Amino acid sequence: MSSIPREQPLVVGSRNRHKVQEIADLLRPKGVDVKSIADFDGVPEVEETGTTFAENAAKKAGETAIAIGQWVLAEDSGLSVDALDGAPGVYSARYSGPAATDDSNNEKLMLELAGVPDTRRSGHYVCHVAVADPTGHIALTVEARCRGRLTDAPRGTNGFGYDPYFLLPEYHRTFGELSPIVKQILSHRGRAFQRVIPRLMRLFE
Ligand code: IMP
Repeated sequence: MSSIPREQPLVVGSRNRHKVQEIADLLRPKGVDVKSIADFDGVPEVEETGTTFAENAAKKAGETAIAIGQWVLAEDSGLSVDALDGAPGVYSARYSGPAATDDSNNEKLMLELAGVPDTRRSGHYVCHVAVADPTGHIALTVEARCRGRLTDAPRGTNGFGYDPYFLLPEYHRTFGELSPIVKQILSHRGRAFQRVIPRLMRLFE
């Protein structure tokens, strides 16, 4: 297996600019610069046909790495709500349909949770990271979670996606209210990268 070239930015296989920004912020202190797949021309969209976060992360990393002939870090993430039997889960990005936006997804989530009391509004975020070498071989995977509770009204404007509704009960704040630095430490993505980083460092030349 080859090593990740030190002189090039690491490619993140995502077009979600919020996600890429969070990943860049997590890796920058380690001296790793990242580049989004959105900066490449003509890379085909990866179809997220997997039924688990692990399958989709591996598919995104592997197919994108083969398409561009470089190492790719990809992640699949989402929200799983206990009272909704784990929904939206792997469908988090397109919960309200193919033209979904964060607002339309949150609207649907609130409709589904209408009348569900606070005590039953628990859920968790999941982040599954996969790193593929240029042949598409998966060299590293990590999954992490962050538990919380869904509010019934948005709070704060930080973060993205479901963050204004995702309350961390111990902090009495949603990710919409907590600073990006605090989200880096507590979130599913932050926790996953705390474990990814030492292993990723060993893959560099
Ligand atoms: P993916 O790009 O297919 O992995 O889908 C990720 C989706 O999960 C996002 O579009 C959001 O709806 C949701 N999601 C994942 N991570 C976060 C987060 O940190 N905050 C809020 N929503 C998130």
